[in-house]
Amino acid sequence: MKLARTKRTPLAARTITYRLTAELTPPNLAQRWPGLPVDRYPEWLALVDAAFMGLFGIVDPRQVLVHKTELRLDDVFIGAVPFKGFIDLISQVDDDTGRWLEVVDFKTGARVPYVPPGQINDHHDQIRLYRIGLAQKLGGDRLFRGSVYYTRDKLAKAVPVSMRGPDLDATVRRFGSAWRRLNRYAEDAAWPARTSPLCGWCPLTPICAWIVRPVVAGDRSVKSVAGQVEPAIRTFRSSAS
Ligand code: SF4
Repeated sequence: MKLARTKRTPLAARTITYRLTAELTPPNLAQRWPGLPVDRYPEWLALVDAAFMGLFGIVDPRQVLVHKTELRLDDVFIGAVPFKGFIDLISQVDDDTGRWLEVVDFKTGARVPYVPPGQINDHHDQIRLYRIGLAQKLGGDRLFRGSVYYTRDKLAKAVPVSMRGPDLDATVRRFGSAWRRLNRYAEDAAWPARTSPLCGWCPLTPICAWIVRPVVAGDRSVKSVAGQVEPAIRTFRSSAS
């Protein structure tokens, strides 16, 4: 989206990917990310390609009027809580009702998550927080809308995000309550965790209470994976040792 409009083609996107691959995988593979063995380049390129090519099925980037890309939001407070973020894309859309700024976040790794009616959609909260922060920067008299672009090829979809007043208010309330919870955890020096398949890569598994804790009958706050997780790194060395 940073290219001139006429140049935003699939070919240009792939050229950028190939150029980055060359830059990031120099001969000294031991020292540079991603440090891929040469014979795995095609696999890596195919994965990256699949992660973003769906964008071209959502919009024609040549038609997008870019206001900003990767806009950094900081020194912003939302409901008295400090907020930081990077907005992937802000585009400008003109229609009969006026000039809109559309806040867009790209999700390359996820299919559209199923969120049951009435449940919290984190991706939508994220867009609304961006919108609120942006309004502080640019002025609340601007017209805003927002979308999440799920750019995975064959699963691509643009999902509009509600910017209704009650939804914005609910997002701010949830943000504030998450902040208070985090502060309480910090004060207590106790951080509840939630097990997931990612525990398999966590170096804390040998000592994590949430892994070793048995499920108490009726306790739905945690799904015990005791005995099911094979830690990727077996030893955890504290800073004191
Ligand atoms: S092992 Fe514990 S600390 Fe590590 S990711 Fe899982 S729940 Fe979190």
